[in-house]
Amino acid sequence: MQIPPQAQREIDRVETLKGTVEINGSEVVVNMPFQEGTGIPETFKRRIEEALSRAEIKSESITFEPKSSTDTDIKKFYLPYDLYANCPTCGDRIKWNNYLCYPTYGEPENIHFYCDECEDDFTKTIVIGLKVEEVTA
Ligand SMILES: [Zn+2]
Repeated sequence: MQIPPQAQREIDRVETLKGTVEINGSEVVVNMPFQEGTGIPETFKRRIEEALSRAEIKSESITFEPKSSTDTDIKKFYLPYDLYANCPTCGDRIKWNNYLCYPTYGEPENIHFYCDECEDDFTKTIVIGLKVEEVTA
């Protein structure tokens, strides 16, 4: 589940509140008060995220509502990164700059590395998130 940026900011802001979070006038009450200054317990954060994922999140002029399907429907999905991992056999630093095939946002994707040095291959798992934010002048 991808949390819209505005909602994420609200989650970050909740550190100064106690057990309740206000989102654009519609109150989401979470019954887990905590001590101020001790940070947000992970369970508390999860409950807020669950509540927010069900709530309608409004930005300045765009409404973000989670969709049931998070398929990208993209055959060749290129990342805006080169990924690097160390070979578990010889320790060489290996670059991955391939593309993903029909990935899904928020779901684990396996990526495969091949080491030219020792001819070992190994798999790592990544998750793709997507940041969508309204840009105002
Ligand atoms: Zn190697």
